[in-house]
Parts: sequence; C-alpha cells; structure tokens
Amino acid sequence: MKVKTEQFTHVAEQELKNVRTRALLDYISSIIDARREEAMSSFSDPAAALAYGRAIRAEAIMRMPELLEEFEKKAAAHGAVVLWARDSKEANDIVLRLAKERGIRYVTKGKSMVTEEIGLNDVLKANGIEVFEADLGEFIAQLLERPPFHIVGPAINIPVDEICKIFLERGIMREPTTDPVALGAAARAFLRDKFHHLQMGITGVNMAVAETGTIINVENEGNIRFAKSSPRTQVSLMTLEKVVPTMNDAMHLLRLLCRNCTAQKISAYVSMDSGPKKADEIDGPEELFIIVIDNGRSRFYGDIQAREALRCIRCGACMYGCPVYMKIGGYPYGWAYSGPMGQVLNPLLLGLDKTQDLYRACTLCGKCKEICPSGIDHPKMFLSYRAKDVEGDEIYKGKRRSWKESAAVELLTWGIRRAWRWNLGAKATRPAINRYADDGKLKNIKGTFEGWFRSRDFPSMAERTFHERMDGRDSSETNHCRSEEEPTGKQCK
Ligand code: SF4
Repeated sequence: MKVKTEQFTHVAEQELKNVRTRALLDYISSIIDARREEAMSSFSDPAAALAYGRAIRAEAIMRMPELLEEFEKKAAAHGAVVLWARDSKEANDIVLRLAKERGIRYVTKGKSMVTEEIGLNDVLKANGIEVFEADLGEFIAQLLERPPFHIVGPAINIPVDEICKIFLERGIMREPTTDPVALGAAARAFLRDKFHHLQMGITGVNMAVAETGTIINVENEGNIRFAKSSPRTQVSLMTLEKVVPTMNDAMHLLRLLCRNCTAQKISAYVSMDSGPKKADEIDGPEELFIIVIDNGRSRFYGDIQAREALRCIRCGACMYGCPVYMKIGGYPYGWAYSGPMGQVLNPLLLGLDKTQDLYRACTLCGKCKEICPSGIDHPKMFLSYRAKDVEGDEIYKGKRRSWKESAAVELLTWGIRRAWRWNLGAKATRPAINRYADDGKLKNIKGTFEGWFRSRDFPSMAERTFHERMDGRDSSETNHCRSEEEPTGKQCK
C-alpha cells in the first residue's frame, strides 16, 4: 500500500464534496454512539470494565518485551514457528520465501491491517503470486484498487451499482444485480472455490496470548477461519503490540473490542489457535508460521509517551467519535490506519515530516480519548507531535521551522495577544488576501499559513474577550482598570 499521507488536505477537500460519503457518515454518526453505549451497558459496571481494559493494555505494553519472549516459547511448544521481522521488507521476504518454497501460486488473505501496513499484496503480486482478499469489503476494495474506507467496513461507501459493474467485469457473476444479498452470494461462491484449492492462507492476529502461546482472530464473516483451517500452511502476521499477558486478559479485551467495534457483545467468529493441527484433529493447517513484525515500533518504545500508541486494539471506536473523520471518512489519511488511531500511529511509524496534516487535523475535542478502551490520550499525543515537529526531532523526523516560518509565527503570536494589534493587521492584510483568493493565486502560497488562507479570511477580534466581560476587566495593553473598583465589586489588580 502506497503512503499518501501528504495528500491529506487535497483528498479531504475532495471527500467533503462527495455527497454520498457525507450522507453515509451522517447516518452512521446518528446511530453508532447510542448502539455502542447500549452494548457497553451490558457490563454490570461499564466504567469499571473500561478501566480494567485500559489497565490490561497499559500492563501489556509495559511488559511487552518479556511477554513476547514468553509467547514465542509457548507457541513453539505447540509446534508453531515464530519468526521475527525487523521491518516490512523482512516480513514480506519471509512470506515470499515460504510461498516460493511450497510452489504456491495464489493465497487468500483474511482482513488484516498489518498486511496493509507492510504492503504485502503488492509484493506478492509483483512476484507472480495472486492474492484474494477473503473479507467481502476488502475483496471489493481490492477489485476497485481502493484503500479501505473504514477499519470495519472497508467498502461500506461503495454503491451497489459500482460493485455490480466490477463483479461483471471480473467474471465474478454473469447476470447484473444490485441486490446486496445476491452480490454477497456471488462473492462467496467465487471465494469458496479458491478456498477449496487453497495451499496457503494469510491472516493477521487480533491478540497473541503470552500465557498459552495462542493467537486469536475476531471476525463476522468466517473468512479468516476458512483461511486458517482449509490450507496446508497458515501464515499469521502480527505486530509487537498484539501480545497480551493472559487468556483472561484476552477475554476481557475481546468483550471490549466487540462492543466498541460493532456494538456486538461478541463477534460471530472467534478463532483461537495454539499451534498447527494436532494428530487427532480434523481441521487446521499442518504448519503454522507466526511472523512478529517490529517495523519501527522498538525505535520509539523507549519513549514512555509515544509507546502509549501501541496500546491500540484497533476497535475503531475513536473514528466514530471523531468530528473530523465523520466529515471526511477514511481515504484522506492515506495509509493503513485512519481516524484518530492513524493520527496517533502513523506519525510514529512514518515520521512527523510525512504526517503533519494528520496530527494537525484535530480539534482537540477529546472524544477519542474519552471512549478509547485502551486508554490512549490522543490529544496529548497530537500536541506532543506538534511540539516535536516545531523543535525538530531526530527520532520522529520532525522538521525544524525555517527562520521565515518562525518569524511569521512570532509576529502572529505577538499580534494575537491584543485585539487592536490583530484588527489593525487584519485590516491591512485583508485586501491582499482577497485579491490573491480572487486570482486563484493562493494555492501558490506555501508554508505555515497555506491551509488557513485557502478557506478563511482574517476575522476581526472582539475588543474584549468573554472572560474579560464577565470579570469586568479591560483588555488594553496596559491592562489598567477603568475605575478603581469594577461594578462587580471585584478589586482591580
Ligand atoms: S485508539 Fe482506542 S478507540 Fe481508537 S481504534 Fe485504537 S483502541 Fe479503539
């Protein structure tokens, strides 16, 4: 998957004009909060359940190195082969080698964000191995060569007539239909045939239990279970942070995951695998490879605040709560992870310089933090990315401001402190801004204020702020009082 995070503003502008996307997101936002809250209320004490889940994730990340070692030992004892990949290239090379050694021509894949992160599909395709996404939404997105729109519904925004058209073009069905059930049945029949002759299935991992060496997958369609049980070889890819201490912890997180993700108490399928098929079992792969991928995580693990991002269990609840995501959808984020989850993770994985628009596109309303079952403080992280970017940071590849940008910010900061200064500046600058806007030249202005000028004027500032009015204080530079004692009776300082 190509990284397109630097196109955030451009794609967001396009999506804001997309009437279908807007209507869909408006509809989702009108129902999702109530459903999630209803699902959470099935806990006898929802607040305690949330706090417990957050504590589990905090502990899992704090103990991550030792838990991963324990997981490897336990999984190997069950007959699984655990392989470690430093980066996406190493991970892709391992999958490719395993496929080539077995003479495999095609694989099916269960929905997995980590394979999006490392760009596995492109690598396999470039090496002559066909990939069939087995999740219906991912399958449609793959056929249309589009990125996933949403973590749970990768193709939820695609109209049925477009799906019908691509299915006919690719020979997935012969007769046109816009009946969603018939479209689903056509995809199922097509993929079922692939499963019957499948030699290698590739999946992600929702949780890896250190205590038992078990990998857990959560889904609603059954395709991951197919991809794991029908082929001879199963390859499961996970990132470092998927490890959890115990099975009890995993079960509690599973309850939180389903409630926050799809407002279900439990998803339709939960698969748990401890090693490959045993001698007395009828289903399951003969060999199981678990690839544990770092891909930059250990680089920031030493930073206590940054490592908080690793707590994420990919439930997607923060997207539904985010006023920005709910206006623009998933495409603008330009990579595997979107919404607040992506705004927190992508800068750490890709560098602050490539993701500036992501951590700046936040109102700091705090809704994501409030609902996150993993206890991530998104706003705090966005503020720290902004600060690191300004200061220039080697680890996170922040870009130090040029002297021109710094001078402009200093001037703006000085001007904004007093209403009269701001209003004088706005009055002087407004005609020039309007002229540039009319000439269409604003798109040529690069730098700190580009986004601002493209869609805004310089509004005038009220002479006195709300708080000053309430306090009865004056806002002039000398900050003197108009009378010795204000009408409120408050003594002037
Ligand atoms: S950041 Fe929190 S709310 Fe968002 S996907 Fe991750 S766990 Fe869920």
